[in-house]
Amino acid sequence: MNYVLALDQGTTSSRAMLFDETARVIATAQQEFPQIFPRPGWVEHDAEEIWRTQIACARQVINESGVPVANVRALGITNQRETTVLWDRKTGVPLANAIVWQDRRTADKCDAIRAQGHAERIRKSTGLELDAYFSATKLAWLLDHVEGARARAARGELAFGTIDSWLIWHLSGGACHVTDISNAARTMLFDIHRGEWDAELLALFDIPVAVLPDVVDSSAVVGETDATLFGEPIAIAGIAGDQQAATFGQACLKPGMAKNTYGTGCFLTVHTGEAPVPSQHRLLSTVAWRRNGQTDYLLEGSIFTAGALIQWLRDGLGIIRSAPEVEALAAQVPDSGEVVMVPAFAGMGAPHWDAYARGTLIGLTRGSTAAHIARASLEAVALQTADLLTAIAADGAPVKELRVDGGMTRNDLLMQLQADVAGVPVVRPEMTETTVLGAAFLAGRAVDVWPDDQALIEHWSADRVFEPQASADWREAMRARWSKAVERARGWADGA
Ligand code: ADP
Repeated sequence: MNYVLALDQGTTSSRAMLFDETARVIATAQQEFPQIFPRPGWVEHDAEEIWRTQIACARQVINESGVPVANVRALGITNQRETTVLWDRKTGVPLANAIVWQDRRTADKCDAIRAQGHAERIRKSTGLELDAYFSATKLAWLLDHVEGARARAARGELAFGTIDSWLIWHLSGGACHVTDISNAARTMLFDIHRGEWDAELLALFDIPVAVLPDVVDSSAVVGETDATLFGEPIAIAGIAGDQQAATFGQACLKPGMAKNTYGTGCFLTVHTGEAPVPSQHRLLSTVAWRRNGQTDYLLEGSIFTAGALIQWLRDGLGIIRSAPEVEALAAQVPDSGEVVMVPAFAGMGAPHWDAYARGTLIGLTRGSTAAHIARASLEAVALQTADLLTAIAADGAPVKELRVDGGMTRNDLLMQLQADVAGVPVVRPEMTETTVLGAAFLAGRAVDVWPDDQALIEHWSADRVFEPQASADWREAMRARWSKAVERARGWADGA
């Protein structure tokens, strides 16, 4: 029997899973690590702690499974995206804490670059909206603020990487300084059309070429693990950012196939084929993966507040004691009684992009109850997703069915509401750990544990399909009421 080891380095924990060749999970391990908040708006991780927890999980699953290391044919990595590490090539020691994707310290710098008129140039090359979220300004910040870093970087003594690069550097005993194209595409320094670092953007952000990793395929043997780590070397053969890996794990391998991940927020991606689709509706145009030199592309939209709204119903409002209880509470009423919840707690993401929008609960009457609020909250998650699907269709990539994963997809009522408001079937797979499965698939394909894509498709199976049941009139009325509520929520915190 062949096995594939998949590492899932997330924002709050490191995880590892061992899969057999039928894509069954044999062993799993997880370790949380500290979140560091040095100042308001700053979020850091200790990169050494990331490595320590990740390698501990990897060793644990191999030991607990009893599988001989020689039968582990490949290792795949998926990771929190954009988080930025700068380390010393000689010692492997980071120069500072990693700056996490959520960190807003470089927002001013982005404003300044926007004021100089560079946003359109950046969008054209990278497919991204100029924002502090991506790695470019985080890396520039480290080069500017760690003493001596800029001079050392120019001399070639330092290495930059997103978390995939950082882990592979250590897994390979310092032999490989690489990143896969899906991670490179999130740096805001990478030309997604030509598939190479963008020299003009490197100059704009003042990044020396000498710090950059080599960009490699997402499914290919790029090196092997240092023999001391697991007793024998394992081929490092799959790499992708978390949303790209989840898209692969959902077997969304053809144009028009889409997945939505419902966690704290939502991440919706749709496969757009072998050329990037520029968005007219403020979605991100990004790389899915590259295999045998062939790049596939995605449109991506994110929603800031989804599962976090259910947490707020529990912790802020106290109308449920646990997240799953929201389903029974919402099911007590046949509809939300025209109550609409706009969960713009942290502004609104795609396609609205309003940093000043704030949460709005509107349409309340004397008859409104906690059940109506619970139902309106589930509707809000579904309606935000429907807005993304409309934007994606307007960009020319209509979606015929939506594959779903993430913690909220256990909620059947939400899944039915999603099918009803979007007017497309919603498909929940048996295996909902799609991110880590995607990393395993990418690695296993590279070493022929799975000989072709058909073999992956056969290991993906639906648990349940939620067909749209509501009428078009109902859907239009729901969406019109939602749009009206979104208008009321917009611009609220603009200081006026
Ligand atoms: P993340 O990876 O972002 O931490 P998960 O995929 O683990 O998120 O999903 C957890 C989120 O899903 C939480 O925000 C929680 O409120 C929500 N959630 C969990 N179970 C349910 C449920 N049955 N109904 C609605 N929301 C749920």
